[in-house]
Formats: sequence, structure tokens, C-alpha cells
Amino acid sequence: MNLILFGPPGAGKGTQAKYLIKKLDAFQISTGDMLRNEIQKDTEIGKKIINDMNDGKFVDDEIVNKLIKNALSDPKKKNKLVFDGYPRSLSQAKNLDLLLKDTNQKLDLIFFLNVNKDTIIKRIEKRKIIEKRSDDDLKTILKRYDTYMETTKPVLEFYSNNPNFHEIDGSLKIDEITSKIDAFLRV
Ligand code: AMP
Repeated sequence: MNLILFGPPGAGKGTQAKYLIKKLDAFQISTGDMLRNEIQKDTEIGKKIINDMNDGKFVDDEIVNKLIKNALSDPKKKNKLVFDGYPRSLSQAKNLDLLLKDTNQKLDLIFFLNVNKDTIIKRIEKRKIIEKRSDDDLKTILKRYDTYMETTKPVLEFYSNNPNFHEIDGSLKIDEITSKIDAFLRV
């Protein structure tokens, strides 16, 4: 089973992804984690993206698509993909479609965790204390939210006619969201 967790920063995608990879014996494909890893290792990619990430801007599609292509080329991850934070733009969504077709895979479920701005601000301010992410300060949170709203609307439209697309209220408690997701899993 391959699925997407889609939604604004702070919607709980990472938390639900961690639950799902355990339950489905799958792999979390988090572009945010991959990009933070590049920065931590001070790679060429890391050097290119550090400013955009710290400013709450999107990283170039080309860079992100390349990371995703690498992840999808790993045969042990085939049909065990839990996308968290990808795709985030229409071009990424189209790229993912192509990559999945090329590797004979499809999307089984697309979850949209929808949360309003106030809830997101509260959640990310809490997360900052726990995870100490440099892009979790208020100014960057607001920028990330605005970037999300501008760039991801077309992605929502792209998926919203898909019969496997489900919107879930992301302001619910973690276990309430999990049980809503569970209801769609056929395992
Ligand atoms: P996240 O951990 O998913 O909240 O992502 C943190 C930051 O990484 C975002 O604010 C972007 O700067 C960058 N990022 C993560 N995923 C993507 C993506 N799919 N496309 C572009 N930038 C991304």
C-alpha cells in the first residue's frame, strides 16, 4: 500500500506517518527529514537549501524530485511508501505520478489533514520547544503556512477527484485522527 499524508505544516503528518509505517511495515518518505539530513551532513544540496529552509520557503522542485526518485528506486520500499510532506506543488504531484507509473505502483490512499492557522501556530510553537527546529519560530511558521496555501491548492485540486482522496479534520486529537485513518486501511 502506498499513501500520501497531505496538509499544512503542523497538521500532524509526521506523527501519523510514524504510526502508519509501524502498522503497515512501510517506509516514511519525508522530504523535510531528507532535506534536514542534507543540511546536517553539510552536503552540496544542504548548502544550497539551508537559506530557503530557514526562511520557510519551498526548496526547488528539482532537488526534492531527485531525492524522491532515489527513494523510489529502492526495491525494498516498493508498495510500502508513506509520503509525508511530498508532493507539495503541482509539478511534484505530476512527477510522483510518473515515477509511480515507471515503477509499476499506484497511490492507494491520499489523506488531507486539514487544520486552521491558529491551531497550527499553537502546535508548532509547542513543537519548537521539543524538537528545536530552526524553522519553527513564529515568523517562519507564518511564511511556511502562506507558502503552503499558495502552492498546494493546485495539488489539492489535482487529487480531490481521486476516489482514494479523503479529507480528515486535523484539529482532532492524535488518536482520533489515527482511528479515522485506520477506518480507510483495508488491513
Ligand atoms: P516539513 O518537515 O515537511 O515541514 O518541511 C520543512 C521544510 O522543508 C519546508 O518548509 C520546506 O522548506 C522544505 N520542504 C519539505 N518538503 C518539501 C517539498 N516537498 N518541496 C519543497 N520544499 C520542501
